[in-house]
Amino acid sequence: MKVALIGVGQAGGKVTERLTRFDANMGFDAVQGALAVNSAEPDLHSLEFVDTQLIGADRVNGHGVGGDNELGAEIMQSDIQQVLGQLDGRITSHSEAIFVIAGLGGGTGSGGAPVLVHNLKQVYDVPVYAIGVLPGRNEGALYQANAGRSLKTLLREADSTLLIDNDAWHEQGESVESAFESINDKIARRIGLLFASGEATEGVGESVVDSSEVINTLRSGGVSVLGYASELAAEDSGENIQVAMSVARQALLTGASMPNATSADAALLVIAGQPDRIPRKGVERARRWVEDETDSMQVRGGDFPIDSDRLGALVLLGGAERSDRLDEFMQRAREASKKEQRSVEENVEQFTDDRIENLF
Ligand code: GDP
Repeated sequence: MKVALIGVGQAGGKVTERLTRFDANMGFDAVQGALAVNSAEPDLHSLEFVDTQLIGADRVNGHGVGGDNELGAEIMQSDIQQVLGQLDGRITSHSEAIFVIAGLGGGTGSGGAPVLVHNLKQVYDVPVYAIGVLPGRNEGALYQANAGRSLKTLLREADSTLLIDNDAWHEQGESVESAFESINDKIARRIGLLFASGEATEGVGESVVDSSEVINTLRSGGVSVLGYASELAAEDSGENIQVAMSVARQALLTGASMPNATSADAALLVIAGQPDRIPRKGVERARRWVEDETDSMQVRGGDFPIDSDRLGALVLLGGAERSDRLDEFMQRAREASKKEQRSVEENVEQFTDDRIENLF
């Protein structure tokens, strides 16, 4: 699927650069344009592979907004014309979706991403999705509170919000900070593969993934989750039926960007590998397993041919709000909001409630 990427803030910029680089190195050509937007000038200077746009220079003089996500939202709104101007030519008639990427716990990305999504939706006809990085549990209260408000607003504004929990994709024992590089690498590979899987058109058997299948999987909005796992495959596809099942299971149960999200409105299962190693029966069985596991009647499936001795499974869930991990995060965000002395009310439902304030 042809996409345009916009990273907001430090994490957003770094992840956008990684993804763009991965897509180019692999020759996938799915990323058509990429821009990093930030109020902190040094963060933009550290990026080499994407174009950049400084915002809020009149307010913060290139020094960033600290952890003030309301200020992040304000400066994005004030400078929105410059940002949209930079996107001319990067978002083209070939673009099938726009992804706005940000760490939700900080200031510029946390506040700026929802404002940018809101404005993009008014200008462009293609879906505007968010990719939001949630703070790990050991990050401080301000991060949790910021992320809660940012997520609530993104869920209102974006066509779907793909969540990556910073606790999910790093190795045991690593601190979150030292793990950023490896988390970013995983995000780039997995999301990069998802974009690319909607691009394959030649040299494959009966079952190719089309961009519209990604878009349809995300159609119900809300939270989306991406899972991935791979294993060595036998040369003969007939011997890989169990492998297909096993990678699909691991992708969802242990390899998901937001753990414990096992119910969804829709899902997409992509099996990646050498075409003659992909077992038709195994793929169908795995697809039915995802259907049962997620309680979804809409599980699409397809192959993605890559030259590898492994078989990989990529599972995309759309409308996956019912997750213990997400509940746990929202609980942390609410408690942190109280600590931050923001007004909160009790006993109303998550996301539609007033316990967490929208940003705007
Ligand atoms: P901003 O520049 O004000 O938008 O703030 P940041 O992008 O630094 O956002 C801070 C949040 O993003 C925190 O929750 C961090 O854990 C997370 N974060 C910062 N840098 C990275 C990174 O490189 N990778 C990942 N995965 N998360 C990051």
